[in-house]
Amino acid sequence: MTQADSCIFCKIVRGELPSTSVYEDEASMAFMDINPASTGHTLIIPKDHAENLLAVPTQNLTATMVATQKIAQAIHQALQPEGMRISQLNGAAAGQMVFHYHVHIIPVHAGERPGTHGRGSGDPQTIQQTAAKIRAALNG
Ligand code: 5GP
Ligand code: ZN
Repeated sequence: MTQADSCIFCKIVRGELPSTSVYEDEASMAFMDINPASTGHTLIIPKDHAENLLAVPTQNLTATMVATQKIAQAIHQALQPEGMRISQLNGAAAGQMVFHYHVHIIPVHAGERPGTHGRGSGDPQTIQQTAAKIRAALNG
């Protein structure tokens, strides 16, 4: 059994686990974080398994960052946050919990001080509605 067989983000890529997807291209995909640190918390990943920044091949890294900018622009347009945190954790000591390279976009709305992770599962309806707004901005 390889790391990719048991990896939850690989399972999302393969469609074996559900996700609220907002974007997909040949090399990368983006979906809503299940435990959002703020409304609009989105994760961007390369489709191919790589544990962290140290391991991800350059081509997939580039694709993921280009997708990150697209999603950030769509979030800026759709949700109009005051700002956005873009973060990426490497190693359990740094707080990494899912060992498939991913970039967090955490919108910061007026009066909020979101952390790196959410503290509990988000409201599924709010997540769906927020994803629909981001998808509309991406397609518009
Ligand atoms: P890390 O600490 O590894 O940078 O963050 C992992 C992120 O993945 C966390 O913010 C967590 O809420 C999110 N996450 C964990 N499991 C799932 C899942 O099954 N689906 C989705 N959409 N997000 C997940
Ligand atoms: Zn993986």
